[in-house]
Amino acid sequence: MESQITMKGTMTGSIADFRRAARDWLEANVPSEPSPEDGPDSRTYVLAWQKTQAQGGWAGLAWPREVGGRGLSVLEQIVWFEEYARAGAPSPLNASFVGLNHAGPTLIACGTPEQKAYHLPRILAGEVIWCQGFSEPGAGSDLGSLRCRGRVEGDELVIDGHKIWSSFADIADWQELLVRTDPAAKTSGALTWVICPMDAPGITVRPIRTMAGPHKYCEVFYDSVRIPLANVVGGVNQGWATAMSTLSFERGTAGLALLIGHTLKVEKLLADCPMNRPELRLRIARLRAEGASIRAATYRFALDCESAVPDASGSMMRLSFAEFAQRVTAAAIDLYGIDAAQVVGAHGWGHDYLDAFSETIAGGTAEIQRNIIAERVLGLPKGPR
Ligand SMILES: Cc1cc2nc3c(=O)[nH]c(=O)nc-3n(C[C@H](O)[C@H](O)[C@H](O)COP(=O)(O)OP(=O)(O)OC[C@H]3O[C@@H](n4cnc5c(N)ncnc54)[C@H](O)[C@@H]3O)c2cc1C
Repeated sequence: MESQITMKGTMTGSIADFRRAARDWLEANVPSEPSPEDGPDSRTYVLAWQKTQAQGGWAGLAWPREVGGRGLSVLEQIVWFEEYARAGAPSPLNASFVGLNHAGPTLIACGTPEQKAYHLPRILAGEVIWCQGFSEPGAGSDLGSLRCRGRVEGDELVIDGHKIWSSFADIADWQELLVRTDPAAKTSGALTWVICPMDAPGITVRPIRTMAGPHKYCEVFYDSVRIPLANVVGGVNQGWATAMSTLSFERGTAGLALLIGHTLKVEKLLADCPMNRPELRLRIARLRAEGASIRAATYRFALDCESAVPDASGSMMRLSFAEFAQRVTAAAIDLYGIDAAQVVGAHGWGHDYLDAFSETIAGGTAEIQRNIIAERVLGLPKGPR
């Protein structure tokens, strides 16, 4: 199935030219080897790929021009990610994701001129890896209840506590860290967002091995870690607003590459599914329709967001994609069988099947997404807290 979007049924010359330029560049530059999943090799791979994109002029597509990005329209971003998926380029959900899609945009929105000048060029150029330190053993869905403590001492913040599920923390240079600086205040005035150097004395990182195999998610322990107050972004006790400020940058376009990647896989499943398995063929055909409808909704959401701050309906795309990914990988296991060559190995369907369980947890669980849709999109009464 050809992956193309047209505006009002026609392809404008500039968008067609943009697509051709993106396709040509990707065909010439996408690495032939798949990315290692974790560890130092994945760091080397991801930084090299980011560097290649930066040198080719394909880094920071959504970032404003004044900070070194390309300031592309949402339509151009969509076209880029269509071509990106079509070319089989490395998953954008890799170790550079937090820097490019979360920490970087947060600094653009709330950072000081010094913070921007130091960090943004390094993220774009593929020199550094960032990770996110928000979740704790007792604070995930209810992030506002986090307990990792930050005390202001002179011109430093002293951190004590424990974070968990910090993706790629073991290979990261920097962490966007959310800590409680005022235990007495309500969440909105109690937290601080700070740039944490991962080589600071007192930090211990312990990778967690998941059932899918890789150990890219980590626990991070902080024992009197001293961070200059100059690293605080958005002000002490203003961390909740800082953490929320980046939401307006995520218009679902990076997730689009993953979605399109899955719809292409469904085509392959359909091609491989024999005629003598009509029930499975029907299931996969339904997945094809499901993928197409999520894709159409995602385009509409992304394009609507160009003129307005994204609303809670992004949760519908997030939830639909998560459950779609789980259904696609389950269909593949049923099609090929658990011992098939396509299923076993680090890049096989077996890995993808196990890994897809995390889709309905990461970035807000399925239940939380359903709550958001119910309350903020459908306007239903709030559930019990
Ligand atoms: C692949 C992956 C990568 C991640 N990467 C990072 C990262 O880099 N940095 C980071 O900080 N965190 C990361 N996380 C953590 C992620 O944000 C949390 O796992 C997620 O927010 C859920 O929190 P929790 O695990 O504490 O579960 P809990 O919040 O304890 O939830 C447990 C169960 O209770 C349900 N539940 C909770 N509250 C409600 C409610 N109000 N209504 C209905 N049901 C409810 C949940 O849906 C879930 O089923 C990652 C997670 C995964 C899976």
